[in-house]
Amino acid sequence: MIVMKFGGSSLESASAIEQAASVVKEHLDRRPIVVVSAMGKTTDRLLDAAHAAARGSSYSARQQVETLRRMHFTETRGVLGQRAEPFLRDHIAPMFRELHALLAEVCEGRQFTPQIQDEVLSYGERLSSLIVAEAFRHLGMHAAQVDARKVIVTEEQFTNATPLYWDTYARLRRSVGLLARDRVVVMGGFIGATSGGATTTLGRGGSDLTASLVGAGISADEIQIWTDVDGMLSCDPRVLAGGFRLREISYPEAQEMARCGAKVLHPDSVAPALRQRIPIVVRNSRRPEVEGTRIVSRVQTAPGIVKCLTSKAGLAVVHLRVKNQGMLSSITDGLADLFAREHIAVELIQAHEHGISFAVRNWPGLAGLLRKVDESVNITVEEDRAAIWLVGAGIGQAALARAHGVLQTTDVRLMSQGSSSLSLGFAIREADLQAAMEALHREFFAAPDRDVFAVPDIAAARALQPAFQASQLRPSGQPQAAPAH
Ligand code: ADP
Ligand code: ASP
Ligand code: MG
Repeated sequence: MIVMKFGGSSLESASAIEQAASVVKEHLDRRPIVVVSAMGKTTDRLLDAAHAAARGSSYSARQQVETLRRMHFTETRGVLGQRAEPFLRDHIAPMFRELHALLAEVCEGRQFTPQIQDEVLSYGERLSSLIVAEAFRHLGMHAAQVDARKVIVTEEQFTNATPLYWDTYARLRRSVGLLARDRVVVMGGFIGATSGGATTTLGRGGSDLTASLVGAGISADEIQIWTDVDGMLSCDPRVLAGGFRLREISYPEAQEMARCGAKVLHPDSVAPALRQRIPIVVRNSRRPEVEGTRIVSRVQTAPGIVKCLTSKAGLAVVHLRVKNQGMLSSITDGLADLFAREHIAVELIQAHEHGISFAVRNWPGLAGLLRKVDESVNITVEEDRAAIWLVGAGIGQAALARAHGVLQTTDVRLMSQGSSSLSLGFAIREADLQAAMEALHREFFAAPDRDVFAVPDIAAARALQPAFQASQLRPSGQPQAAPAH
């Protein structure tokens, strides 16, 4: 059995759903279990609607849900044709009525809690899984929808719930594993429920984690993540075009890329697959002929190769100076507890002679949180910062020296090396992010290793296309129409 997960952009329209169906059909002999995200940008829209309702803006909340209803109806009609009307009437319209009613209660003063937020967001994947299963049946597959809330059991941290692995695996084996023997199971990603039955979500991008949980629960042969890029690339195409596709990387490298901002994979999705050595393959649903990137235990590449540049914007760099060095460890421990309690990830950290500096996501509550730090500590905060990481197993001094050379004229605020030698991170001004990424990519990917990256053959490309410019292969700040290689 395999797991095939399709992200929102792979299901955003009738034609995208048909394309996903044709990809699934190609794999029927491997008995796929299909995990789906909400269609297109549905989760963002649901969140907007929920926030509008919480502000008491009932008109805006209704409008947003109405836009979503129209989109789901139109795309369902696009796939199902005549068969759509009874299905929409019996299964989809009632869910939109429920959603309107829930948001109306919030508008009228019901407290908007994280639990209500999860309830609202769950509609995205509940709708998409019903629609995709019906579309698969219409397109000739024997498909069954499973409500993910019956099998993914989580703790109670609404909006970011931790799965209860063993309960989840037991349920998956009992239900999904058995059903998948003779039909294509379709279930929503991202959502689960507490053992008491309250709806939870696994955090944004959490459908990848669902795919990995399902894979581990049923001991799948492979977990396929079908998305809108050719695989894991040497840089985020939305930041810098022209990156190279990685052929194969290790689980720790993939996890580090994800942790350091490569949104293509949810950082928590690697661990369940890794424990059972199930390969994860990241592939492009619109270009299924491309092999994608395989994430496996062992890769045959030498250590020290920079495989990816990642970045995060919207950070603040905080410098703490202590008068008495002896106090430093108790202050940093206190701060670590504080951040852990508030679920704030420290992105980069560097110790120096008089204290420490670190980078965290900037948000309006940060100043208030820092006021809880011992008064004797001198604190300065720099806003509008970004972080860049070089990621690859075993990268160390040589990469650091090259990066320093490239960033000579950039205002580097702090540098941080992960303890496992998987990454090197730099905090810079957000305004310098684009230029720094371009310069670093030029430095580290001028002659990419063909065993590690899928590099197009320039000579062959020239022969095919006389006007071909080698510069087209170089990264540039301008988004390119051409897909990654
Ligand atoms: P999905 O809806 O399929 O889950 P996401 O938007 O969550 O898709 O993830 C895919 C996106 O991840 C890509 O469109 C790309 O912009 C982004 N991304 C960030 N870093 C990388 C990277 N190194 N390689 C590939 N994609 C990346
Ligand atoms: N639909 C959810 C989100 O947008 C989960 C996912 O797509 O992975 O965050
Ligand atoms: Mg995603």
